[in-house]
Amino acid sequence: MLQQTTVSTVMPRFHAWMGRFPTISDLAEAEEQEVLAAWEGLGYYSRARRLHAAARTVMERHGGDIPVEESDLLSLPGIGAYTAAAIRAFAYDQHAVVLDTNIIRVLARWGNMSDPIDTALGKNNLAAIAASFFPRTECRAMASALMDLGATICKSGDPDCTSCPLQKTCRVSEPKKLPKKSSRSVTTKLVEHRAWFWKANRLYLEQSQGPRWRGLWILPELGNAQSSGRILPEITYPITRYRVKMKVHRVVGKIPALLKGFTVDELVALPMPSPFRKVIVNLASGS
Ligand code: SF4
Repeated sequence: MLQQTTVSTVMPRFHAWMGRFPTISDLAEAEEQEVLAAWEGLGYYSRARRLHAAARTVMERHGGDIPVEESDLLSLPGIGAYTAAAIRAFAYDQHAVVLDTNIIRVLARWGNMSDPIDTALGKNNLAAIAASFFPRTECRAMASALMDLGATICKSGDPDCTSCPLQKTCRVSEPKKLPKKSSRSVTTKLVEHRAWFWKANRLYLEQSQGPRWRGLWILPELGNAQSSGRILPEITYPITRYRVKMKVHRVVGKIPALLKGFTVDELVALPMPSPFRKVIVNLASGS
């Protein structure tokens, strides 16, 4: 249910982003700040940056056409083995082994793989099973069929084996237990303290230089700033394997020179990560 909610929330935003940059050249010509501002709410801003960089590379090196060769695709920013295979299979119907979550589940069950799929042995076994499935031609049809099978019949949890076209050859004994994984990610709780510099109807922000939010405007870390002792309403947000509680402190004293002040109207168009947007929208209206 959570995944469905996330997809139904994210997809309209992604379509809106695509509508803003409908062609590769539109995206390549846009300024990074514009691309990041439009990406707000989609998370993982590094993806927007890489898409932007990839569009520029496609324009510069490939005349605006997404390349078909695997080595050319892998040289584009943000394109890894899975995406390159998906582009080759779905866009060009070239031979490529596409392994997304649904396909991995189908193949691991079909082969009754006892090795965890995130180990070297498991990956090798999975690659061997996949190689036997993906034909030299019509990879697009095979990838689509396996994806659909994983999404509708060989579902996570309890598969509907009686409706499965692979039932006669499937070797699975306990499908609910497959695929196995060796590592289970653990969520770590973090608390961060941010400073709220508000003066003359302006909120003072810093432009992040960090890898995750580079170029976006955020509340600065509290650091040595002198808190007024008043902590503003806090929010909690997830980021990769962390669950972060953001506590915002109203600060008194000199505003650091590296910060820049914005009026409430100016904040609207400023690219910023959505957890900061939520805090700032709530608090700026009451400041
Ligand atoms: S028979 Fe069952 S476990 Fe095997 S591939 Fe089909 S749905 Fe999955």
